[in-house]
Amino acid sequence: MKSYGYGHQSISEADINAVIKAMRSDFLTQGPFVAKFEEALCQYTGAKYAVVVANGTVALHLAMLALEIEPDDEVITSPNTFLASANCIVYVGGNVKFADIDLTTANIDPKNIEKQITPKTKAIIPVHFAGQPCDMQSIQNIAKKHNIKIVEDAAHALGSDYKNTKIGSCNYSDLTTFSFHPVKTITTGEGGAIMTNDKELYEKLIMFRSHGMTKNPKLLHKNDGQWYYEMQMLGYNGRMTDIQSALGISQLKRINKFKAKRRKIVETYKTLLGNDKRFSFLDEKTYSETCFHLCPLLVNFDVVKKSKREIFTDLSSCGINLQVHYIPVHTQPFYKDYGYKTGDFPLSEKYYEKTMSLPLYADLTTNDVKYIVKIIKEVVK
Ligand SMILES: *Cc1c(COP(=O)(O)O)cnc(C)c1O
Repeated sequence: MKSYGYGHQSISEADINAVIKAMRSDFLTQGPFVAKFEEALCQYTGAKYAVVVANGTVALHLAMLALEIEPDDEVITSPNTFLASANCIVYVGGNVKFADIDLTTANIDPKNIEKQITPKTKAIIPVHFAGQPCDMQSIQNIAKKHNIKIVEDAAHALGSDYKNTKIGSCNYSDLTTFSFHPVKTITTGEGGAIMTNDKELYEKLIMFRSHGMTKNPKLLHKNDGQWYYEMQMLGYNGRMTDIQSALGISQLKRINKFKAKRRKIVETYKTLLGNDKRFSFLDEKTYSETCFHLCPLLVNFDVVKKSKREIFTDLSSCGINLQVHYIPVHTQPFYKDYGYKTGDFPLSEKYYEKTMSLPLYADLTTNDVKYIVKIIKEVVK
């Protein structure tokens, strides 16, 4: 029996050959492919600068460091996200604040952001859930009004457009982060990137990625010679290898194909399941053209007898292993110690009850999708 998860990488012969080429080169890390991948990301998104890093979590951590988020500062994110969007705030000692979602998109609701703002608020981390861009114009207006920074967590949204600009262009934010984990739209195994148009932030990110060191003559306090470097801040090793960057360059060449395929699969699911009172889908806003990372199927449990748990077990026995995105972050045991509890963000909790992410990846065939739909219609009763 064929088995389906919610996401899967798509690796071509060209991808494999790109990796082999990097393996045979003089550099396995800190070589030319890193810079080439960064250039390609800038070219694709329209941002001025890119910094590729070890993974999407490191990207968020370095973003917090570059914005100088410090103990007692408050940063607002969505409860409907992966843990890393909130954890990065804790890494730098900041206070995590949540703003509840809009149920039509499952994205953070600007109205709720405004309610969470205090004099201590330093930044907002909107998450483009499922790849669908948040209402960035409203979020940017709020940020400008209160003089706070924006980091877009675009782990889901490489390839998506917002008002005819690419996510990653940073037209509506200070920084944008990506993840290249194998379930995401393009992969480098592990990997991530931070995009910006701000030269100062870019230079800080470069230093934070590599121990807080610099050899940039313009930034040095003195210069003892060719070997000389200075450590000007406490950085980390957050680097991406040349091997991974070579894979990233090759994968990025296929982004438009990936996007078209993902959009087509979502459209098929919507056509085949959308007119059934047991199911519904999130709205795609007219201001965006989404490169879908997820296709959340919303189950109307008022008309379905089985529990979510039973549905998952029954689907698994047919080879379909769905996932739920997301368990609201504020309900995690860790965040109880920060004063959060179930009931605090009811819309995210309500959304969690009824969502399940359908298989969505470039290598799914039409027959795969038809099979999945048939089983879902049989099992969800
Ligand atoms: C995947 C993901 C991350 C973390 O990326 P990694 O590369 O796995 O570290 C962060 N935020 C969101 C919303 C994600 O989906």
